[in-house]
Amino acid sequence: MITAWTSLFVATAGSRLQPAASSEAATARYFASIRNQPLLLLAFLAEMPKGGDLHNHLTGAVYAESYLRWAAEDGLCLATTTMTLVAATCDAAAGQPPVTAVLRNATLFNQAIDAMSMRHWNPALNGHDHFFATFGKFGPPSDKTGDMIAEVVARAAAERISYLELMLTPDGGAAAQRGRAAGWDPDFGRQRDRLLAGGFQDVVAEARRRLDVAESRQRALLRCGASDSDPGCRIVVRYISQVGRAGVPEQVFAQMLAGFEIATEDPRFVGLNLVQPEDDPTALRDFSQQMAMLDFLHAKYPGVQIALHAGELGEGLVPPEALRFHIRESVRTGHARRIGHGGGVMYEDDPLGLLREMAA
Ligand SMILES: [Zn+2]
Repeated sequence: MITAWTSLFVATAGSRLQPAASSEAATARYFASIRNQPLLLLAFLAEMPKGGDLHNHLTGAVYAESYLRWAAEDGLCLATTTMTLVAATCDAAAGQPPVTAVLRNATLFNQAIDAMSMRHWNPALNGHDHFFATFGKFGPPSDKTGDMIAEVVARAAAERISYLELMLTPDGGAAAQRGRAAGWDPDFGRQRDRLLAGGFQDVVAEARRRLDVAESRQRALLRCGASDSDPGCRIVVRYISQVGRAGVPEQVFAQMLAGFEIATEDPRFVGLNLVQPEDDPTALRDFSQQMAMLDFLHAKYPGVQIALHAGELGEGLVPPEALRFHIRESVRTGHARRIGHGGGVMYEDDPLGLLREMAA
């Protein structure tokens, strides 16, 4: 191990003496020399500048340990049958101990973390359902967004990432609520007019206000501006409004409209993305309608970027018909500039043609 670290140091120090033009070649030579040595490769990759992280679900990027710590601070309980954080009257005898007690019980603490994450996951079981179920265990909607951003940017700095785009629900659910209250009119133009006429700007203002509060909290936690500020303060952060694709059409449309409006008014928001399982029955049923909504709204707000989850599906998860068009339709009708996940691309009709189209 000592030899390994020494050779890394020599290689790094040596490369500093090279003219700038050859440093890339020196790095490539060093990389080639250690690529089959896992420990040196780990050290090399840890130090490597990684640029931007463009696909980051904020609530999924926070560790279960943090949710448990915040829940203890907020006096929440852990419902042990489902390992879900709940705001209620805690009662250990009724299977609902206070999280403060969970933090003192190593066995329960570890069981909670395993349930709230993919740690120790048994790959023989259903990882899809376990993964998506974790998001429902993180407790009631919280005011911890600033704490979450602080955790994620501090880690990003330590991992040599310089830019983050974080997916979040910026308005605390206000747009979805407006949508449900408005009901559904399948004429997208009328539906948009109705929402905008009904004070929809309040949703935009609420999203901006919440982000102001969160960023202020993040900066305070990381001491941004002080001489001992956390390196996370230097990360450039932008946000993507998420839209829950498993919702009813009036809810999905209102969340999309909010995403476009917010990105138009606040430069911290760079676009929107659809989240939740692509194989959810409502998401499957409404897929083409949701793409048509994006097509309509894109024409109204052509400057707002769209990234979409598509091709998260695999053989055996859904009937083969659902595998043949989601990525193509996301690109052509949904105007996605980026596809998230996309592992199912080879199940699409004419996959090579689609890949060429996306690369163009
Ligand atoms: Zn994703």
